[in-house]
Amino acid sequence: MKPMNQTKITFTSRSSNEGYARGAVAAFLAQLDPTVDELADIKTAVSEAVTNCIVHAYPGVLGQIYITVSLFEDGRVRIRIADKGVGIEDLERAMQPMETTGGAERAGLGFTVMQTFMDRLRVRSTVGGGTVVTMEKKIARRC
Ligand code: ATP
Ligand code: MG
Repeated sequence: MKPMNQTKITFTSRSSNEGYARGAVAAFLAQLDPTVDELADIKTAVSEAVTNCIVHAYPGVLGQIYITVSLFEDGRVRIRIADKGVGIEDLERAMQPMETTGGAERAGLGFTVMQTFMDRLRVRSTVGGGTVVTMEKKIARRC
């Protein structure tokens, strides 16, 4: 199905841009008149995925983060968050709860949060090539 509306943003992997990314996605979704809870869920998931790009994809260096938000006629929202960073060697393992390569300061719960707050989560990754996280959630129509 073709999206009825779409936006793309690209920004540098600075942690100061995490709030921008979350806010930009939320601003685009406002036209769907989502509930506070729906919007909070999506913002949390976006925040986790973007933080992963900043912290893991580009460790100690700056790279670009690419977000595409697509809206579909049936109320589905698809958010694709991509980087061209280091990639994930063992994806199945990385997606398990409490699996982290980030040491003691990371809980290893980002993917679990994305899975919990969204209806669908798909992750593709290539070592040395980068990672693409695609998440979907249906926004209930309220009219
Ligand atoms: P938390 O999100 O709780 O702070 P975390 O980031 O380690 O901890 P997840 O978000 O679940 O936990 O990610 C699990 C692991 O997957 C990370 O520790 C990291 O090794 C790898 N990872 C996740 N996203 C990326 C990415 N975009 N690029 C490279 N590695 C990633
Ligand atoms: Mg994380």
